[in-house]
Parts: sequence; structure tokens; C-alpha cells
Amino acid sequence: MNDQAPGMLMGIPKGGGKGNEEKTILNCSTTDPNKILPMKYKWARQHYKTGVANNWTPEEVNMQKDVETWRNPKALTQDERRLIMRNMGFFSTAESLTANNIVLILYKHITNPECRQYLLRQAYEEAVHTDTFIYCCDTLGLDADEVYNMYLEVESIKAKDEYVVNMTKSILDPNFSTKGTENIQRFVHDLVGFYVIMEGIFFYAGFVMMLSFLRQNKMVGVAEQFQFILRDESVHLAFGVDLINTIIDENPAIWTPEFKETITERVREAVELEMAYAADCLPRGILGLNASSVGEYVQYIADRRLKKIRLDSIYGTKNPFPWMSEIIDLRKEKNFFETRVTEYQTAGMLSWDE
Ligand code: FE
Ligand code: MN
Repeated sequence: MNDQAPGMLMGIPKGGGKGNEEKTILNCSTTDPNKILPMKYKWARQHYKTGVANNWTPEEVNMQKDVETWRNPKALTQDERRLIMRNMGFFSTAESLTANNIVLILYKHITNPECRQYLLRQAYEEAVHTDTFIYCCDTLGLDADEVYNMYLEVESIKAKDEYVVNMTKSILDPNFSTKGTENIQRFVHDLVGFYVIMEGIFFYAGFVMMLSFLRQNKMVGVAEQFQFILRDESVHLAFGVDLINTIIDENPAIWTPEFKETITERVREAVELEMAYAADCLPRGILGLNASSVGEYVQYIADRRLKKIRLDSIYGTKNPFPWMSEIIDLRKEKNFFETRVTEYQTAGMLSWDE
């Protein structure tokens, strides 16, 4: 397990097909990216199967009631419209950013075939999510320029996207390699940026805001689209956490007190940005939410993320929205809000995670 020659990315490994014990996720010269069996990282396979079992497309969600509501000037308040538009603006471009990160950055450095199989599935799901916002713009007749320019023009959205782009800059360098402790730290740092912060924290104020519409039985089509996205994102996050923890286990030298402190600090900075985003989306309390309760939710979520990557939690905040998991569980049981939902999953396989 020494040099990871760039030419190896698509080709045959120098060492021939070695046994599973010798395989590592990074810097493994004996990994043949074309040879998925025998498989070492069963978790990657499991996340792939869960992703496939969760298959959905945005067109399955009926938007008729939403269209009527959106067109009726009296059906929604200005604050409700602002909240929906801000979340459209953030998610519409963040989904593409995530897809590009997977395909252009992660895929190159992760040569293990079962992990790559998952990355391909995740990339497809990001394409479905991108499609969701096309579908929302089309059905509701939203101004596409307004929605797609928010990540450049709305400060609270721009700040989040720039944070992830800056945090994940080092591995974007075409000369970057994962060789050596420092480079592996950089890689893990950037994985935290993609999975824990972007998909695990920056999406969650939006999820709680959009799912609140379900409780009011308003804009249920859009809310349901977000619910499907949430289900996918929880698997993306679970894969990212397994990936990060496996790399740490295989390279224990990277997990120094200083590095742990750096990662914790990144999470803390991300929480600040997410709380600022929530405040911008919610200048006044609506739908049973306000900036401070959504902020508490973000802290609660961040603590959970830290624990998943085996770091100490920092906030100790209680979940202000226990209904989040309840509303999700209800939907598993039946079509609670009477919009058309297709559940591909068998109940036993469903796994939601906030
Ligand atoms: Fe996504
Ligand atoms: Mn994702």
C-alpha cells in the first residue's frame, strides 16, 4: 500500500488482486477499481442498496394544490413566500455543487470499487435533486433567474456556499495527492466539508422550515419534495460518516488533538452561518418557527454530527422540534397528507436519520 499512481485510477493495479486485509480506502496500490468482488467495505454496499430502494422522481409528487396556493395572493403571507424562495435559492444550486464535488473531486481519489458504486448512486440522486428544483420552478412558475442567482446575490446563501468551496479547496488542486499524513488530514477535512457540513448541517435548517409546511397542510407538494430529498441526504451523510471514520481507523496518525480541534472549529463556524441563514429566512416567526428555535435545531443537529465522527458535542442543545421525526414516521405509515406518494421501500428497510 504505497504509491497511488494517477494512471491507476482506471487501470489495472500493479500488485495484482491482493486480499481484502491489505485493502485500504486511500493510497492502496492493490485496489483494482474494476474488481468489486470480493468486497471489503460492506457499509458502502448497504448504502448503495438503501439508495436504490429509496428511488423516486419529482414528477411523482402532485403539485396542483401548490400551484393554486402559490397563485393565490391571499393564500400565503409575504414571509411564507420569502421562506420558500430562500430555500429554493439555496437548494437549487447546492445540489449541483454537491454533484460536481462527487464527480470531479471525490471520485478521483476514492478508487475502492464499492465506494465508487455508492458515489455513482449518490451522483444520480443529486441529479434527481437538481431536477426537483427545475420541476418546482416549472410548476409554480418561479423566476428562474431569481432562484438560481440567490447563491451569488443573497448574502446568507452566498456565505454558506463560499464556506464549503473554501473549505474544500485544497483537494481541488489537480496536483493534490492523498499521500502522507498531512494530505490525508486535508482530504478528511474536505470530506467533513462536503458530507458533514454541506449535507449534514447546511441542509437542515431548510429541511425543518420546509417540513413545517406539512404541519400546516400548506404547499404540501413542495414540502414533500423536500421530504424525499431529506431521506436521500440522510443516506449521503451516513455514507460520508462511514467513509470518514474508516479513513481515520486506517490512518490513526491523522487524528491528533489539533486536527480534532480544527474539525470542531469548522463545525462551529458552519453552525454560525446556518443560524444566520435561518435568521435571514425567518425575519419574523411563522409556521411555529422562529430564528432562535431553528438555531437551536441547527445546534442540536451539529452535536449529533460531531458525535457521529467521534468528536465531543459542543452545544448540548435539546431538539426543539421532536415533531420532525414524528412527521417522518407518520409518512412511513400512510399517505397522511393525502397527496400522492409512492413508497418504493418496504417498511423494514426504511431508515431515516435527522
Ligand atoms: Fe442532494
Ligand atoms: Mn446529497
